[in-house]
Amino acid sequence: MTEFGRLPGVGPKTALRHVYRLLGLTPEQRRYFAGAILHLDEIRQCRRCFAHTERDVCDLCQDASRNGEALCIVAESRDIATIEATEQYHGLYHVLGGVLNPPEGMTTETIRAAELRDRLMSDTEIKEVILALSPDVYGDMTMNHIAMLLKPLGKKVTRLARGLPMGADLEFADEITLGDALIGRRPA
Ligand SMILES: [Zn+2]
Repeated sequence: MTEFGRLPGVGPKTALRHVYRLLGLTPEQRRYFAGAILHLDEIRQCRRCFAHTERDVCDLCQDASRNGEALCIVAESRDIATIEATEQYHGLYHVLGGVLNPPEGMTTETIRAAELRDRLMSDTEIKEVILALSPDVYGDMTMNHIAMLLKPLGKKVTRLARGLPMGADLEFADEITLGDALIGRRPA
């Protein structure tokens, strides 16, 4: 069972521990566990925001109670859950699918920047674009690029307030700090 070793942060010892835990489950629980993994094959990307979803268009994009005037730009699908947990944001999202990182092959072509521009050009309801990427070198580089790309569109572009420690991963920011950074957002 070296499969657990494919997960980040799981070494041989931890992998073995996971195997023992699975052995401790009932056969039915194990089948349920295996089913949950197989179910991941059905996950695809929302046609509108590119978040992971089981549908063509995700629940969030379909939710009419969301504020259609705000669009929050995140690097990964999982960042949506982090921002939702703050309960300070009620608009829509756009998932870039990464940040600019030339050494790792992430360029202006591989992140969904063109898709973002197209969306903003066709969706006139969106008034504000909030750049919510992790405040590190690559996140900053990406936010600068997007702010420049969107400039001709004349939309309000903001980014999270300083307050998140530099280099901090959005994923590990606590809800209060991130919520405050959202409320205090500033022009990009
Ligand atoms: Zn969506």
